[in-house]
Amino acid sequence: MILPTISSSKRLLIFIITGFYFSPNLSISLLASPGNPNSHAEKLEFDDKKIPEFYPNLTEIYAKMDSLCAKYPHILHKEQIGVSSTKAQPIWALKLSDNPERSEDEPAVLFSSLHHAREAIGVLFTLHFLEEITRVYNSNPIAQELINNLSIWVVPVVNPDGYEYMFQHTKTFPWWRKNIRNYYTRKRNMGLGVDLNRNYNFNWKNGGGDTPSSWYYRGQSAASEAEVQAMQKLALRENILAGATFHSYGELVLFPWGNYYTSPDQDILYEWAKGIANRLEKKDGRDTYDIGMLDGLAGQSSNWMLGQLRAADFTFELGTEYFPDQKEVNKVLHQTRKSVMFFLQNILHTGIRGHVVDFQTGKPVVARILVEGLEASFIAERNSEEMFGRFERLMLPGRYNLTILAKGYCPQFMPEIQVQKDEVTELTVFLMREESSQLDATH
Ligand SMILES: [Zn+2]
Repeated sequence: MILPTISSSKRLLIFIITGFYFSPNLSISLLASPGNPNSHAEKLEFDDKKIPEFYPNLTEIYAKMDSLCAKYPHILHKEQIGVSSTKAQPIWALKLSDNPERSEDEPAVLFSSLHHAREAIGVLFTLHFLEEITRVYNSNPIAQELINNLSIWVVPVVNPDGYEYMFQHTKTFPWWRKNIRNYYTRKRNMGLGVDLNRNYNFNWKNGGGDTPSSWYYRGQSAASEAEVQAMQKLALRENILAGATFHSYGELVLFPWGNYYTSPDQDILYEWAKGIANRLEKKDGRDTYDIGMLDGLAGQSSNWMLGQLRAADFTFELGTEYFPDQKEVNKVLHQTRKSVMFFLQNILHTGIRGHVVDFQTGKPVVARILVEGLEASFIAERNSEEMFGRFERLMLPGRYNLTILAKGYCPQFMPEIQVQKDEVTELTVFLMREESSQLDATH
């Protein structure tokens, strides 16, 4: 284990699976111990509470998505990306972009909500974001720039079965968190549900609970759950560059990762987490959201996004309770939208971007985009994608040495590439075939 080296005037918190957090000067061994959900301090507080009327049920969420798609078909398109584990309900992704039905040569972003059933403020936010940005598309140049130059994927309901179940079982706390996959052994019910945000295929075996009765049950194997498979498949297919998943609660912005080898992207993730959190005022108005590191030894979506795709992915813990009242919700939605717009502009205007093409044919090449000092054996490399040969790397300002590698081609070394603040460095990389490959091609 390597301890995080970050220091800052802003309080840095390590968030762990119990929902409690410790400051980093506490023993790191604390982080590895799974929490006991039964000791959750909120138990009494929630016993008699009802879900406020304005929270939409699943049918109402889907109706809202459909009405937005019908109203703005030129920038919003719905695609089924999978089905839920138990009831085989569709899992929908909305693509927000100009020409949304076409695959365009644009960096891709992925937002999600409702991994956890009771964290409904997340879906209130993703719907609010879609509604507002589509509404102002014609008049607001920032919305236009983002929609025209990015492919923004939004999965409002990752866990439809769990959300439905939660609405049907509101009498007792704690309201539902997981999906509703049932586990039986010798006809004995071992417990219900997998924590979808402990089921992603990155450090899966180290995180969450290992018995089905745990609120944090990680499932029988990595990415065993159809909901998680759908998310991973979409993210890989679109070569997602950055993203966020909206959970509740705690007034925190979390980034991957602590309690694991320090990621080569830690500096930029930390900078961005600060920028995002600084735009989110807490309910009491006295401070902005705290930032924290996710426990890297758990199959959480943000860990997977960074570990498998090198995507800059953040976990928002919105609000101060699972079902805040309308007043708190309004404040959260407004501020989260501002911080997400800031995040999207950062994505669009940071680092290097370009294409890798075959020198002779001009055709796109899938290549490894290696940046000296920013690669490590425990984290995936970032590749150019297949359709256009497009690549992106999000990097802080500085000078970088790049090496572009592809099978059958001569390595291309690109020294001293300058990255400026708020400005993308555009590159086109022409790869020459290796001699033997050229000979092969003539046969
Ligand atoms: Zn959550």
